[in-house]
Order: sequence, then C-alpha cells, then structure tokens
Amino acid sequence: MNLSRNVPTTAQIECFAQSISGHVSSQLSPGYESLRCGLVWNGRPPEHYPFLIVTAHTTADVAKAVDFAKCHGLAISARGSGHSYSAVFLCDGGLLLDLSQLNDITVERSAHRLSVGAGARSGPIAAVLAQEGLAFPVGHDTQVGIGGFLLGGGLGINCAAWGGMSSFNILAADIVTADGKTQYINAGNNPDLFWALRGGGPGLPFIVTRFHLHCYDHPGLISSNTWLFHFSDLLYLTQDLEAVASSLDPRLQVMVAIFSAPPELTELCSAEDCGRIVALTAMAFAEDVDDASLILGPLASLPMLSNAIVRTENPSTRFAEIQEQGKALLVSQRFRTDNILCDNLGDAVKIVMQHLPMAPSPASLSLIVLGGQKTLPEAAYSVSGRYFVSTYAQWDLTEDDQVNAAWLKGFYDDMAEVATSAYINEFDLEGRRDEVSRCYSAAAFERLVILRQSYDPMGVFYNPFAHSCP
Ligand SMILES: Cc1cc2nc3c(=O)[nH]c(=O)nc-3n(C[C@H](O)[C@H](O)[C@H](O)COP(=O)(O)OP(=O)(O)OC[C@H]3O[C@@H](n4cnc5c(N)ncnc54)[C@H](O)[C@@H]3O)c2cc1C
Repeated sequence: MNLSRNVPTTAQIECFAQSISGHVSSQLSPGYESLRCGLVWNGRPPEHYPFLIVTAHTTADVAKAVDFAKCHGLAISARGSGHSYSAVFLCDGGLLLDLSQLNDITVERSAHRLSVGAGARSGPIAAVLAQEGLAFPVGHDTQVGIGGFLLGGGLGINCAAWGGMSSFNILAADIVTADGKTQYINAGNNPDLFWALRGGGPGLPFIVTRFHLHCYDHPGLISSNTWLFHFSDLLYLTQDLEAVASSLDPRLQVMVAIFSAPPELTELCSAEDCGRIVALTAMAFAEDVDDASLILGPLASLPMLSNAIVRTENPSTRFAEIQEQGKALLVSQRFRTDNILCDNLGDAVKIVMQHLPMAPSPASLSLIVLGGQKTLPEAAYSVSGRYFVSTYAQWDLTEDDQVNAAWLKGFYDDMAEVATSAYINEFDLEGRRDEVSRCYSAAAFERLVILRQSYDPMGVFYNPFAHSCP
C-alpha cells in the first residue's frame, strides 16, 4: 500500500462503527481472537492479524469501510465464507471486510437470472433455485461461499454443461472500487473488470457486493452411479477413462476419489491396496431415465467396470445429496490442499499411486475430475487441462502440521512435472504463493498485474501476490 498509515484511534474506530449497520472488531476488542480464528475454514489457527475486522451488513457498509481504510492507510481484504484453504484473505495490520452477511438470493425465473449477495453460500442458492425449477453450478459443499468460488473460476456441480466454469455464468456484478464508489459492471460498460471477475482469483482491485448470474432449468433427473475398485486397479481404470473422456456427454460429471477404505471395506483390500479404495462416481444431469442411460452409455461399457467390488446406484439424486457426498470425505480437523490440471492422466496417476500411500495421515485423499476440453471465453480464468487432480491433506493434531505440509509439497512438486497448469481456488497458496502464475495463462497474469496497477494505483486493496508480480 502506498497510502501513508495513520492508525485510527479508539474514538475514530468507535465513530466508524456507529456509522455502519454492520459490526467492527479491532485487535483490542474482546472476542477479536475467537472472531479471527472463526473466519478460517482450514481448522488451523491463522498466522495473520488484521487490525480491524468489519462485518458488513449492506453495500453502504462496504463503501464506508473502503473510505475509512483509505483514510487510515489500512490495506483492505475481502472474505466471503472463508473457505479459502490457505485463508488468503488475512492481511496483517489491514482491514478485513467480512461479506458473509451479504447473503440474500433473488431469482427472476422467466429470465433465468439469479442475483446473490457476495456472501451467499452454495447450499441455500441451490435450494432457492430448486424451488423455482432452476439450477446453478454451485460448489460441491453447501457451505462454500459464492464470492471466492466464482472469482477463482468455480468448478461447480455440472459446470461442464452449464457454462464450462461456473464464473462464465456471471452476467454482471455490483462492485466497490478503490475510490469507494459503487458500480454495476458488465461486459459492455467495463470489459476490463468484467474479464477479471471471471477467474481473476484473490486480491482483485475491487470488492464484489452482488453477483448477477445466468441460471438453468433444473434437470428432470440426476442419476448417480458409484463403483468401488481396488487401489491396485487405479491405473487400469484411468486408462479406460482416458479412452472415453473426450466422447463423454458434458452432462455426465465423472469423479474418481482415492481414500482410505472405511472399516466395513478394509477386508476387501489386498496388501497391494495399502488400505486405500477407489470410488468412481458418474452423475448424469438428465431429462429423464432414458436420457440418463444415454448419457451414461459410453462410461457404462468400460471394461474395467467388471472389476468393481461394489456398485451403488441412486437413480434420483438432489443437489444437497451431491454436496453431502463431498462432506463425508472431510473427516479431520485440519486441512491443506493442492492441485494440478493435466492432459496426461496416466502420468499423474502414477505419481498419486506413489505418494498417497505415504501420507502421514491416512485420512488424506486425492480426487480426479474429468473436465473435458473447455472452450474458454475471454476471461481471467485462462488455464486448460483435461483432468483436474487435487489432494486434500487432512489430519487432527497441531504437531502434525509440518509433516503434512511437507508431504503435500513433495507430492505436488512431482505433480508439477506433468501439469499443464493449476486451479487457483485449490492451489496451495501458503506453500506456493510465488508460483501463482501457474494458475493463469501468461497473458492473463500480465493483464491482471496491469489492471491492479491501473484500477488501484495506491494499493488500497490487499494483494497477496504483490511480491510475486513483476
Ligand atoms: C469444503 C470445501 C469445498 C469446496 N468445494 C469447491 C468446489 O466444489 N468447487 C470449487 O471450485 N471450489 C471449491 N472449494 C474451493 C473454494 O472455491 C474456495 O475456497 C473459495 O475461495 C471459496 O469462496 P469464499 O467466498 O469462501 O472465499 P474466501 O475464503 O472467503 O475468500 C478467498 C478470497 O476470495 C476473494 N474474495 C472473496 N469474496 C470476495 C468478494 N466479494 N469481493 C472480492 N474478493 C473476494 C478474496 O481475495 C479472498 O482472499 C471448496 C473449498 C472447501 C473448503
């Protein structure tokens, strides 16, 4: 930040707090520490200390907070639901704007248009839309906030069929810029910032208070099939999947999860399985039963399916159930994640098979999502790769933080060798902040740097990547 710092007095903070409808907590306020720790999803006590935490209740609160922060030289960062795995929104000595209370949801059914406060979460959005017979590619967990999710790109439910990435459904946004002004931006009136909205990631030169989104007719039927395999079959299974991946209907969402076998399945594991099991899940977002079996067709005929040790079918799945499936795998207290996008799944899977069994915590798991070939529009989300491969390190004890971080780092150093790029929202921004350019095309990364300089020359907004940018 180039503004000179002029630390507000207690009286000035009090006066600011009375001018907004939201809540202000300073480092000296009782309850500051539990508020600070409670803002972070990853379960680890955060290392950074904002000077002020402002919970905004209205867009006017956001604009006033921007003015107050500027006046006192406090860098501003934004938090939606705090699901950033690396708590990237925490800025030492700055003003953290918590937007989680800006969470109203409005639907215009006939226009297929959805308008949400920037702190709204995936579960309520899906539920409100379902009542109207509509759907949006929200996150795979009810609690994930729409703000950071969309700004990073958004690998949402059925997003391959619904826009490509979830953020490609942004029609417009209400934002507050570095001058404290509120603006409605869309592709026509501000192509630069509209471009940045769709995948620019953390640390943008504005705060979004509301998203205006395109939404879709709710599928008539969501059928879900899961097959369980031996871990030792993983490479053969992925070879089969690679063979059909490019011909799959985009309405088929295919994921492979590799995790420790639950107690009821351990007896099915052989020594070569290292206690792990593989679940292939295919979800068809269909019109009806016949359409679902057409969509599933090419996958249902994979030769490897005959090796499945268990098959389960849920012919009629709801969004909430899809979101619960993901939650069921997150069983520990502390988390860290990393990912790559790649075109050669076989090479990536060999590395998974080498590293996952060596995880310090057996609860850690890897996930493969078949993404297909996306046609990318003009947007800051600019990376490609036919497969998304992520790993969720999870453990319980503080003293295991280092060993788990080091394991994930070594694992994904090797994965980087076979990567085309990485996805910003699940990138290890604690261990790899200097490598953040891997999450953008070279041109997009450069354009983001230029946009930050031109829309926020004084550095009003906290840029967590300032030291990694040219
Ligand atoms: C359990 C879990 C499930 C997940 N599932 C998915 C999934 O299915 N698909 C997927 O793609 N990702 C998923 N993610 C990752 C998720 O997209 C990111 O963590 C994302 O940042 C969450 O959004 P948030 O609003 O909570 O962001 P926060 O953690 O609150 O903020 C992260 C950053 O986003 C920026 N930001 C947030 N809101 C605003 C705003 N209104 N204006 C300006 N900047 C803002 C800020 O720079 C901030 O530093 C998941 C994460 C978790 C923990």
